[in-house]
Amino acid sequence: MSQQAPHKIPFNRPTIVGKELYYISQTILNGHSAGDGAFTKKCNRLLEERLGARKVLLTTSCTHALEMAALLLDIQPGDEVIVPSFTFVSTINAFVLRGARPVFVDIHPDTLNMDETQLEDLITQRTRAILPVHYAGVGCEMDAICEIAVKRNIPIVEDNAHGLFGKYKGRYLGTFGTLATQSFHETKNVTCGEGGALIINDPEYVERAEIIREKGTNRSRFFRGQVDKYTWVDVGSSYLPSDILAAFLYAQLEAVDDIQTKRRNIWEYYNQELSGWAEENSVSLPAVPAHCEQAYHMFYVLLPSLDSRQALIAHLKERGILSVFHYLPLHLSEMGQHFGGQSGDCPVTEDVSDRLLRLPFYNDLDEADQVRVVEAIREFSPMKQFVVASSLSDGRN
Ligand SMILES: *Cc1c(COP(=O)(O)O)cnc(C)c1O
Repeated sequence: MSQQAPHKIPFNRPTIVGKELYYISQTILNGHSAGDGAFTKKCNRLLEERLGARKVLLTTSCTHALEMAALLLDIQPGDEVIVPSFTFVSTINAFVLRGARPVFVDIHPDTLNMDETQLEDLITQRTRAILPVHYAGVGCEMDAICEIAVKRNIPIVEDNAHGLFGKYKGRYLGTFGTLATQSFHETKNVTCGEGGALIINDPEYVERAEIIREKGTNRSRFFRGQVDKYTWVDVGSSYLPSDILAAFLYAQLEAVDDIQTKRRNIWEYYNQELSGWAEENSVSLPAVPAHCEQAYHMFYVLLPSLDSRQALIAHLKERGILSVFHYLPLHLSEMGQHFGGQSGDCPVTEDVSDRLLRLPFYNDLDEADQVRVVEAIREFSPMKQFVVASSLSDGRN
């Protein structure tokens, strides 16, 4: 008799957590499904209140919020922006779209966040922005980064796609920079399929942000009764999500405490159950400094080598478990090399990128599946893989 194969455990699975379908039906039945409807306003307000942010504007994606940031900061051809090589392409592409040149900074080997000690050396007369990315929802060293930014008068744009409701020294991530961006893509903690937000902490940028987001018009002022008619006043595009998406998102935001509790439990289970295995096998688990409250965006392990990482991916796949690596160093990508990126520029990024593996992590990953993942990993010894591989290549054995 053949044994039935266990079900597959995906890497990510978006879930319904509350009133998503009800709110979506409300927007459709109300007949107002374009942008900046009732649910968009509710989302903006909830985020403003909860984060203590000056202004939050929902956008169609984090990528678009980053593009708005580059427009707001008037990034011009030849300007330089400092960005970790270990991030998603949008962090920098939004600025490159305006003609900026990326200046790649390496990361710390423990938190995998921007190494702030390298910033001073990378700043030039042309530096127009510093872009910290709070990797895995663990805060960058914002005290030091803000101090340098203030001293050199350079705006910070936080890419907080991973870090919604994470904190650094008691303060919410996304409230340190002049601007910050969020993502509500289906792979993030809180989602509406595709979506994002621009957080504006410096009031100087609020009005222009509304204009850029509304096709370069002063439509927002018109709706507030501040002008008689609305007209074309600046550059801009259409960065408003449909209120149907905002309805989806609002239900998720209302349930955010539940979402975060579930994610914290899964994260802590992995961390606890894998610590012995990690220690025995020279594997590192995520580092969360005591002054950071993380956002529980992902759980990753750092294997001793590329070979052992690939072997673990295959080992888990054989058992129906999907695990995935993460960012390839941006400075070594085709575009990165076009900007002068070379092997050796960011050695920690190059090393970590080869060895990092993300485990299945989503809100309704149930206990039985968590156990399955942990047990499958514990059956795997990267050291053994390494010995086998090296003995083969030595021609011994
Ligand atoms: C997901 C992600 C983005 C892009 O988000 P979208 O909403 O898909 O545009 C940008 N930066 C980081 C760090 C991300 O993880």
